[in-house]
Amino acid sequence: MTGGWAAKELTEKGLRTLVLEAGRPTVPEQDYVEHVPVWEMKFRGLGDRRRQSAEQPIQSTCYACDEWSAKFFVSDKENPYTTAAGKPFRWIRGRQVGGRSITWGRQSYRWSDLDFEGNLRDGIAIDWPIRYADLAPWYDYVEDFIGISGEALGLPQLPDSKFLPPMQLNCGETFVRDELAKHFGGERVLTIGRAAILTQDHRGRAACHYCGPCERGCITRSYFSSVNATLPAAEKTGRMTLRPYSVVHSVSFDAKTRRATGVRVIDSRTRATVEFRAKAVFLCASALESVRILFNSATPEFSNGLANSSGELGHNLMDHVKAGGADAIIPGNEDRIDVGRRPNGVYMPRFRNVKTKHPDFLRGYGFQGGGYRPGWERGIAQTGFGPDFKKSLRRPGPWRFSFYGFGECLPNHNNFAELDKEAVDAWGVPTLKIHCSWSANELALRKDMAIAAAEMLAAVGARSIEPFATDEPPGFAIHEMGTARMGRDPKTSVLNSFNQAHDVKNLFITDGGAMVSSSCVNPSLTYMALTARACDYAVQQMKKGEL
Ligand SMILES: Cc1cc2nc3c(=O)[nH]c(=O)nc-3n(C[C@H](O)[C@H](O)[C@H](O)COP(=O)(O)OP(=O)(O)OC[C@H]3O[C@@H](n4cnc5c(N)ncnc54)[C@H](O)[C@@H]3O)c2cc1C
Ligand code: SF4
Repeated sequence: MTGGWAAKELTEKGLRTLVLEAGRPTVPEQDYVEHVPVWEMKFRGLGDRRRQSAEQPIQSTCYACDEWSAKFFVSDKENPYTTAAGKPFRWIRGRQVGGRSITWGRQSYRWSDLDFEGNLRDGIAIDWPIRYADLAPWYDYVEDFIGISGEALGLPQLPDSKFLPPMQLNCGETFVRDELAKHFGGERVLTIGRAAILTQDHRGRAACHYCGPCERGCITRSYFSSVNATLPAAEKTGRMTLRPYSVVHSVSFDAKTRRATGVRVIDSRTRATVEFRAKAVFLCASALESVRILFNSATPEFSNGLANSSGELGHNLMDHVKAGGADAIIPGNEDRIDVGRRPNGVYMPRFRNVKTKHPDFLRGYGFQGGGYRPGWERGIAQTGFGPDFKKSLRRPGPWRFSFYGFGECLPNHNNFAELDKEAVDAWGVPTLKIHCSWSANELALRKDMAIAAAEMLAAVGARSIEPFATDEPPGFAIHEMGTARMGRDPKTSVLNSFNQAHDVKNLFITDGGAMVSSSCVNPSLTYMALTARACDYAVQQMKKGEL
């Protein structure tokens, strides 16, 4: 996701750019399988469970790693990692050109000053060195290119994007939205998800035709991914060289000039090692992989990892706490069904600790979810017998509604990754050992998600309300971040406010590693805006002869 943006920005600004990708190339015409029906799949969509448990025991716990899309997720066997005893962490990854931008859920939200000022306000970790005003023009810039569909709400805690027309709520969602507005006096707003999916043709890409399973690719390039949008733009400049099968082992560093000189690469097919030289290095390998590269780049001076004079590299690992919410049957609309497979749900912006202070926790959460009418598959959970039972299953079930929370995780120095020199991956590269667990604040947020969701469903007149707060480990929101945080002080942060390493001026990290706090909204739009901003800064610095 971020590497594609760096490639686009650097090439468009005139730099010859080498993009190194550990995985294989992605060829849309062969790899995208969103229109392949279930009956054409060997295991009828259930997946080859023997292969999965041998090759992808961790990846296959992600909803998107199914029989179609398993190829877009790493082999856990080839890409191992370890965790501290009693602290499970689910690390979900993609290793191919496009990374996880192929399989992401496309939910795209701006962060606000409620997020950027949070650490300072609460006295947690360190302050962000930037504010919303620094990033707003870069959100505009990135959104202009990507195309984000959504509804403007004018809420301070969730700034509006430059939107394409929103997708429609279905009738169940419209009912819940209107009822909530009556009961919660504007505090709890339901809107359609803000998604990097086109609702009209945009910059040579076609509007979405609502086929549904986007995590399998999109031949009409209707959702944003690096393969669908940024890499073709970089390619068009004639200044990009894309080299797949290139596992970056480490960054090389010249202690005299105090500059990165390039990167050391292992060719994943031949295992030959190659060194590439460069004037500037951008690490966009994802929050944990980029720090792994820096740990493996240790020098006598930086014995705990390159650019780690602060000792913060690998620390402050965050992910969103989720798996709290509720599901229920909502009244009415039984003469109506929805049409098409809208690849998006609803969103309820954060309402906790916005205007009033909650006694049990800091920060807050937003709800994703939606209204739906279960079909015949509900028979699995329903008892009955004979022809009447069969007939009843041919009719759609009642409308249901689900709220599913995503909550903010506080930065904590004790949540960290370190190099596990004993365990190497399939290419002999030392791997990571991750130490991460939820704090009491995240657990309190998850508990409150279930309570608030059930309360709202009760208020709209729903029945059979099923609240849930499932004990899920960190990592599973797939929003890992914070491992090379930005900051004003080189003693307490790895990067400055432009994603530039304090210790190594021509080294930039623009993936989720840079984040100082986690907000409660999906982070990738912010990573992309930060990347475009960092590229602009790097090129300006080069022009001034500072890099
Ligand atoms: C199922 C799913 C749903 C998601 N939904 C959302 C969502 O709705 N909204 C949202 O904001 N985010 C979502 N995310 C998260 C989002 O995908 C990530 O935040 C985003 O892709 C991170 O971008 P990145 O550039 O840091 O890393 P990635 O997109 O993971 O790209 C990293 C790239 O680096 C390559 N790489 C790694 N190590 C090396 C190495 N040593 N040498 C060379 N190359 C290397 C990888 O192969 C990969 O191509 C979702 C993710 C998944 C999997
Ligand atoms: S639902 Fe839309 S964005 Fe998703 S794969 Fe189909 S056409 Fe593409």
